[in-house]
Amino acid sequence: MIVTILGSGSGLPTPNKNHSCLLVQSNQKNLLVDCGEPAARTLTEYDFKPDFLDGIVISHLHPDHISGIYMLIQLLHISKRQKDLYLFLPERENDFIKSMEMLYLFPAKLPFNLIIQNITTLNNWAEFVQIFENDHLKRYRKFVQDNNLPNKLKSYSILLKGEDKNLFYTADFSNLPQLAAPVDAADIIVIDALHPPAKQIIELFATDKTIILTHGISSELETEIKTRIYPNVKKADDYQEIKF
Ligand SMILES: [Zn+2]
Repeated sequence: MIVTILGSGSGLPTPNKNHSCLLVQSNQKNLLVDCGEPAARTLTEYDFKPDFLDGIVISHLHPDHISGIYMLIQLLHISKRQKDLYLFLPERENDFIKSMEMLYLFPAKLPFNLIIQNITTLNNWAEFVQIFENDHLKRYRKFVQDNNLPNKLKSYSILLKGEDKNLFYTADFSNLPQLAAPVDAADIIVIDALHPPAKQIIELFATDKTIILTHGISSELETEIKTRIYPNVKKADDYQEIKF
């Protein structure tokens, strides 16, 4: 399997960093996991073929994880994709279709079938991908309740099972203990280095796992990796390839 980090930036736009996006190439399927800006343009920097992707998986509905999807659908439309495209969303599939229609991206006018499903069906479609719900959006619970909003606060982390090794992409999350099972199962962890307490991440540095810090980095973690040497820990770079 080859995982290419197409975007390793945080939610704050910065020069020379793309927002969250992983390209996953396996023997079975090619996926994008998260689709932050400028995913479509980044894909055109490779030998882009409109039918290359099988599916897109969105971990949660923050803009830096989904904002690139409209331009990606537009790219696939203009370049006359033929093959079915699966899109796995964490919540509000029908509202997503409405947002496409608002932008004049009418699903019925696309030259391919866009099949939108809830992310909880992902493992039936791609056995090598397993999802784990996390707590990243729970901080909005009171606001959503008080304002009677339809947001479901769904956010997921994703385990990719290779032949010999597993890679765990945490996406954004707040606390590591709830993700103990996929952390245990992983050899390589692409981890949100901004939101969770730095202490929880530093504890992982002492393991034999490869730790790749993505989605920006907290100042505490930045200091830690500057003052101590951890051969298994690296900051993610855009376009970085991980083969396993
Ligand atoms: Zn987020």
